[in-house]
Amino acid sequence: MSKLIANSKKSKHPIALSFDVEDWFTVRNMRDFVSDSEWDKQEMRVNIGMDFILNALAGKNIKATFYILGWLADRAPELIKKIADQGHEIGCHSYQHTPIDLLDPKSFEADLKKAVAALESVSGRKIKGFRAPSFSVMHKTSWALPIIRDCGLEYDSSIFVTSHPDYGVKDFPTAITTVSGLTEVPLKKSKFFGAQVPVCGGGYFRMLPYAMTKSALKQDLQSGPVVMYFHPWEFDPEQPRVALPAIKRFRHYVGLNSNRDKFLSLLNDFEFTTVESLVQDAKASNNLSSYTFKN
Ligand SMILES: [Zn+2]
Repeated sequence: MSKLIANSKKSKHPIALSFDVEDWFTVRNMRDFVSDSEWDKQEMRVNIGMDFILNALAGKNIKATFYILGWLADRAPELIKKIADQGHEIGCHSYQHTPIDLLDPKSFEADLKKAVAALESVSGRKIKGFRAPSFSVMHKTSWALPIIRDCGLEYDSSIFVTSHPDYGVKDFPTAITTVSGLTEVPLKKSKFFGAQVPVCGGGYFRMLPYAMTKSALKQDLQSGPVVMYFHPWEFDPEQPRVALPAIKRFRHYVGLNSNRDKFLSLLNDFEFTTVESLVQDAKASNNLSSYTFKN
């Protein structure tokens, strides 16, 4: 019986589990309401979500990837050390969480170098992976990829294969792909009864019934790995409420109360790995597709 239960979670491919480590007041939805210069005055609550995440992962002996803000490395170095000490991958999520479309090449490079230096100094690890704020690597910001490579990073996981108005590259391959001398690990929608649904994290994971997410993921994992993404503030239902406009309020606060239970169900039902190990496996298979941005 126990063997039957153990086998029931086996999918053909694993989920690469990733977290964009930022505090509740640094997210894009808050940008017009809490400016960068006011960040230091806010109540830091990142440890509330992180304690839940790290305990849940330790309980299942799961290793994951944490793309962390350089700003947090400077404010909460003990948190970054704790993540590293528990054997998780440390990646970079920029310094100031500014989407790339609001930067130029020079300011992007300066922000990235500052973040990588802060994270490497605190964690004692070489940073290999980058996740842009708000998945902001797209056609118009593809100039960022050679900069990421030249800053010494090995892979990027910032492209969402979708035609969303604010982000995404709709014709990008859904498999791990070589682009601009980097390895790209894209995020993608999953099929659910003929529809394409982004069940891999964020507001959709919080909003959709878990049974639907589970079914879509099971189907998707037959053809290849899936990258999922979460944030510590998504596991902190008591976080301060900001008077956001209706759409932003919905996106940020939907499903916060049930998200911990959904996440624990997910950990029970699937097998997980880090994004870095997906990259290593893909490179070893010597079978990467390639893509060229035409700008
Ligand atoms: Zn972020």
